[in-house]
Amino acid sequence: MQELTHWIDGKHVKGGSGRFGDVYNPATGEVQARVPLASKDELAAAVRTAAAAQVKWGATNPQRRARVLMEFVRLLNRDMDKLAETLSREHGKTVPDAKGDIQRGLEVAEFCIGAPHLLKGEFTDAAGPGIDMYSMRQPLGVVAGITPFNFPAMIPMWKFAPAIACGNAFILKPSERDPSVPLMLAELMKEAGLPDGILQVVNGDKEAVDAILDDEIIQGIGFVGSTPIAEYIYGRGCANGKRVQCFGGAKNHMIVMPDADMDQAADALVGAGYGAAGERCMAVSVAVPVGEKTADKLVEKLVPRIEKLKVGPYTAGDDVDYGPVITAQAKEKILGLVESGIQQGAELKVDGRGFKLQGYEDGYFVGPHLFDQVTPQMDIYKQEIFGPVLCQVRTESYEEALKLAMDNEYGNGIAIFTRDGDTARDFSSRINVGMVGVNVPIPVPLAYHTFGGWKKSGFGDLNQHGPDAFKFYTRTKTVTARWPSGLKEGGEFHFKQMD
Ligand code: NAD
Repeated sequence: MQELTHWIDGKHVKGGSGRFGDVYNPATGEVQARVPLASKDELAAAVRTAAAAQVKWGATNPQRRARVLMEFVRLLNRDMDKLAETLSREHGKTVPDAKGDIQRGLEVAEFCIGAPHLLKGEFTDAAGPGIDMYSMRQPLGVVAGITPFNFPAMIPMWKFAPAIACGNAFILKPSERDPSVPLMLAELMKEAGLPDGILQVVNGDKEAVDAILDDEIIQGIGFVGSTPIAEYIYGRGCANGKRVQCFGGAKNHMIVMPDADMDQAADALVGAGYGAAGERCMAVSVAVPVGEKTADKLVEKLVPRIEKLKVGPYTAGDDVDYGPVITAQAKEKILGLVESGIQQGAELKVDGRGFKLQGYEDGYFVGPHLFDQVTPQMDIYKQEIFGPVLCQVRTESYEEALKLAMDNEYGNGIAIFTRDGDTARDFSSRINVGMVGVNVPIPVPLAYHTFGGWKKSGFGDLNQHGPDAFKFYTRTKTVTARWPSGLKEGGEFHFKQMD
């Protein structure tokens, strides 16, 4: 059995805690590797090495730092197939989807090549007599990222690329479910020219996370994962005086207006609801048609599309729409919620419960499900299912649909399908959700914009990637300077207005 490692000081390092986690192949249910779970002391040692290396890296000019990312992008493209295969084997998503996962991270690394421009400060010439004032953005020092299983390439890169471009050292604690790709990314960063110690991958579970939260050297923490853990990390990290941003779970709605192109809406819902087995924080899990006729038409269009979905292992290539879910526990939770939906009175229009795949009986495959007549009181509406289950909530008017989404505790992504510009504009302006799609079901912003949800989907002030990341991973220092020619008036005992 393969034994994975940590990545410390530019090398693979064996785990020393004696504790390990199993890494599965979700398509077969087999344990394919074991990952070391770091102790508090192992984490602390990784942080100390990072802190020592960061001093020189922080003083390296931003253009040289950016060149490492430039080379990293080239290496990612070179190794795309290998990375995608490893990612699919541990996560279960299809190979094209795994490539998308890598690509969306790569694009953030590309954006970070612009670090010299993004890190430029502000300067006021002659703010007073002989006085110049300037502000600079300096790295925080050592920062950490704690990332989820569902995007094992993209989210680590969203975190470490800007942090490192800003001159920080980075401690990555990836998901213990699929840690191989993060380790491969660290190897590539070294090959791209990153000095040892600047990117440390510390594998682990709650013990390593708690050690990060309480570590005195770590200055900033970026987290992505479920909402209860996001709230915990935000609370404890902030209480310890750190800069923290946490991105949590989601329940993304798609409003379908009566004037929408129904074929387009149904195609969008199938891709956004069932792609990656629904294990995306931007997956659409609630369809909200406006008007009974729209709802009936939508179900009529959805059912045959859903029944045609091909579920299978990534090794089946293009012949598969989505793969297994991540663990046996995840499968059990999804099927438990499906049962609760039936008991609480929702109508199961497509029933994926009996799904079996010959030769893969031990894999964590879940057939697609479609519920109609779902109400906001049901558990399938209230909870994030994170599986291939789409719920339809019928509404009578645009205002009712808008209110439904606004009252939901999550606020990650949302979409509206309509041909009416006024409705789309009113919706985009009033909705209390961070990322909005107009006839676009999964409105994930590109690297040069920023990504972040509202309400219980995001905690902290700044978003991920784009210009916000450069603010998050730096702090401002402002210098007021006067040279001897201006120091002729003797001491000052009060704040003087600048002439
Ligand atoms: P998770 O919360 O279980 O785990 C995320 C990270 O937290 C992992 O690194 C894990 O090791 C750590 N962790 C887990 N339990 C912990 C505990 N008790 N104490 C300390 N650390 C702990 O999430 P997941 O299952 O890996 O990922 C799926 C979740 O992530 C979904 O809720 C999804 O919506 C969310 N997500 C959100 C975004 C976003 O940008 N908002 C993006 C992707 C995923």
